[in-house]
This record gives sequence, structure tokens and C-alpha cells, in this order.
Amino acid sequence: MDEEKASLYQGKLKQIKLELLGDVEKNYRSAKEEAGEAVPDISDEASRTYNHQLMMNLGEQDWEKLKLVDEALDSFDKGEYGICKECEEEIPEPRLNIVPFAKYCVECLNKIEKEQAAEKHNSKF
Ligand SMILES: [Zn+2]
Repeated sequence: MDEEKASLYQGKLKQIKLELLGDVEKNYRSAKEEAGEAVPDISDEASRTYNHQLMMNLGEQDWEKLKLVDEALDSFDKGEYGICKECEEEIPEPRLNIVPFAKYCVECLNKIEKEQAAEKHNSKF
């Protein structure tokens, strides 16, 4: 992937992250304000309390999404962005356009989902 495209996807990912965090911050602030507590500055991402609050305020799905977004952002540094974690082939761009934080190509994702479904099914017996 050339640099121009990479920075495009990087921008998209940062946008998604901001949206996810923005919702959390809003929820966090209104909850605190309702309780009449002082609202600390939560811009310090290193703060443990913040991360804890983040987890409490994010739905499980959003939390998973945020983790994927962070992983994708990390993968730029390693030059691994857009590479399927399973087959190590490039993930097609139309897929990245829809899911910029995709870890797997569609074939591998289907395979993994089938395996997980099979595991769930088996565990019932
Ligand atoms: Zn794959």
C-alpha cells in the first residue's frame, strides 16, 4: 500500500477512534455532572481511572471496535496495515473502505467465524 493511501486509512481510523471516545467522554461527563461530582480532565489517556471508566462507559461491542482500531493504528508503525493476520495476503481495498480496522480478509474471516460457530455448537454436547 502506498503512503498516500495508508495515511488516508490512518485518518479514517483516527476519526473512528475520536467518535468512539467522544461518546464515552460525553456519557462520562453527564454521569458525573448528574452526580454532582467534579469532572476531572480525562484527556490523559495513560490514567488508569480513565481506562476503567472507558471500559465501563463503552458498550462491549464498541470496546472491541476500539481495540481493533488501536491495533490497526499500531500496525501502521510495523508496516503491517491491510495485511490479513491469518493468510498474510493483502486485504482488498473495498473491504478496508468499509471496515478500515479489518484484521482478516473475507475468506479468513468466514473461516474463523465458521470455526467459532462450530466450537460453540460442539460445546453444547
Ligand atoms: Zn486472509
